Amino acid sequence: MTTYEVAHRRSIEQPEAFWAEEAKRIFWHKPPEQILDYSNPPFRQWFVGGETNLCYNAIDRHLPERANQLALVAVSTETNQTQELTYADLYREVNAFAAALKRLDVQRGDRVVIYMPNMAEAAFAMLACARIGAIHSVVFGGFAAHNLAVRIDDAQPKLLICADAGSRGGKVIAYKPLVDEACAKAQTPPPHVLIVSRGLDPAEPKVPGRDVDYAQLRAEVGDAEVPVEWLESNEPSYLLYTSGTTGKPKGVQRDVGGYAVALAQSMETVFDCKPGQVMFSTSDVGWAVGHSYNVYGPLIGGCTSILYEGLPTNPDAGIWWALCEQYGVRTMFSSPTAIRVLKKHDVDFIRRHDLSMLKYLFLAGEPLDEPTAKWIFEALRKPIIDNYWQTETGWPALSVLPGLDMKPVRFGSPGFPNLGYKMKIIDEQSGVEVPANTKGVLVIEPPLPPGCMTTIWHDDARFINSYFGHFKELLYSSLDWAIKDDDGYTFILGRTDDVINVAGHRLGTREIEESVSSYNAVAEAAVIGVSDELKGQVPVVFATLRQNTDEPAARSAAADGMRKTVEQSLGAVARPARVYIVNALPKTRSGKLLRRSLQALAQGADPGDLSTLDDPNALEEVKRALQRGPDVG
Ligand code: ATP
Ligand code: MG
Repeated sequence: MTTYEVAHRRSIEQPEAFWAEEAKRIFWHKPPEQILDYSNPPFRQWFVGGETNLCYNAIDRHLPERANQLALVAVSTETNQTQELTYADLYREVNAFAAALKRLDVQRGDRVVIYMPNMAEAAFAMLACARIGAIHSVVFGGFAAHNLAVRIDDAQPKLLICADAGSRGGKVIAYKPLVDEACAKAQTPPPHVLIVSRGLDPAEPKVPGRDVDYAQLRAEVGDAEVPVEWLESNEPSYLLYTSGTTGKPKGVQRDVGGYAVALAQSMETVFDCKPGQVMFSTSDVGWAVGHSYNVYGPLIGGCTSILYEGLPTNPDAGIWWALCEQYGVRTMFSSPTAIRVLKKHDVDFIRRHDLSMLKYLFLAGEPLDEPTAKWIFEALRKPIIDNYWQTETGWPALSVLPGLDMKPVRFGSPGFPNLGYKMKIIDEQSGVEVPANTKGVLVIEPPLPPGCMTTIWHDDARFINSYFGHFKELLYSSLDWAIKDDDGYTFILGRTDDVINVAGHRLGTREIEESVSSYNAVAEAAVIGVSDELKGQVPVVFATLRQNTDEPAARSAAADGMRKTVEQSLGAVARPARVYIVNALPKTRSGKLLRRSLQALAQGADPGDLSTLDDPNALEEVKRALQRGPDVG
């Protein structure tokens, strides 16, 4: 048996002994009295009675050894500023921020909404909350006032912290007017708004009595030190709303001790990044990856974390690789969407950099199609490691675990269950485990491992119904389709609500998308099922090309090529009824395809909740294409 197999078996068969050992990776002010309490399923408590603190583990603990090592490097190609902070610098700034929070009467257990782009102060704010036991809820800076208001009403914060503005591709987006609008819309607006200004939007008027300027408060608190608040392991550390790809976002609640232990362990076993080494995640702090692998994970692991604000193509498509070279990045983490953006540019933007320190590129967040994986592999010549997780899990559930003994990468598969994850694939109807090479629903057998969500904020019933109410047996449903091959590699086949039924054949839209994308001219494809009188449903493709064109003949040639490709690889049933070529596809702010809205539009229905839509133009593109008619079909 491999090291992985031994460790995984132990984590499943003797979870308490296994996690008791893992718990030693972090500092406990008071050691746990009980490793696991599973007396009230599906709720579980890890490290009961233990007292610890995320901020202490991320910063204070490292000071004796790493005070002068870089902890956080915040690079912005929007403001053209780079902030390099050592662990000592981070200690100072986070303490000052914590002192500012105290001045604004933020107490242990209070919620704090953070609405900021990828700037160093966003990390200071999160860590400062963790230090004093306040519960942060970071709302992605790109969200509109409505999204923010909904999250404010759910979290009922004592304080909202925002930047004066964000910037995207050089275009300044003032945040204050959005915050004002959200506060006006919200039922329970926060009594104070703390504004961290970068001088991007100096004109913004302050609301007297409510708005506070951080620079002023920072000057007043000076180099104050704020003692760490020791929290019981299961107290909430933060709330984070899911991307909302499938509907109303859920307020995922995380604990303290279990999360810290899971991150410490995954930094080593999954990401193979040791103290003193450098990790660069291109995520936004507003997403789960940003929480776990831009802020808490690398810092708890004593690593250097790179935080990047800006487009991956500005000043040119080599910027991320230039940073890898400059800071000696070992572990890089990004998303398939981002790589598809780079794929539109010359590989030389990557190849011209010295990437000898770079060991891996991890990708997560959505299916990694083979053409994209192969393209980036050819460009980098480093392992491309697909890993599967959800906001709910907080850290990867499936990967090839390069930090243990790396299993060979198999394109299309994120790999194997991580330590502590007892997963199986079951039949949707019967709930019985399916044999190898058979599609089913991916489930986790509870108790969920440390690091995974503890509940939905203020809504235990929704937690149970959303995740545990699908089968007779008490199982956590991932709501994703999966299949396991003979060697135990798991493949994700899309979401359980992304299945179409063509003349009695159930087809995953993901499989058709994969096939469409393998056609060379295609940059990205979305496949949906559209009602059809004869067949029930038929597959319809929306695709972007690597080289945009308005030339109808070129468009229909490409569309025809896609159709033939699908027919050849998946058979006539999967043959797309219609193909529409567009210049952009509608996605959520986190880069996931909004198939739900596409499908509604294609059927002439209301596209539904568009609050998480990233680019309104993409939706207009689709409407225009529908009006114009398909490029083939
Ligand atoms: P909501 O739950 O609100 O609808 P969401 O599911 O898009 O939103 P996230 O938690 O950000 O919110 O995304 C998790 C989902 O992303 C997974 O359930 C899966 O569908 C997809 N996903 C993540 N990583 C991978 C991967 N490596 N391969 C395939 N799919 C992935
Ligand atoms: Mg989800």
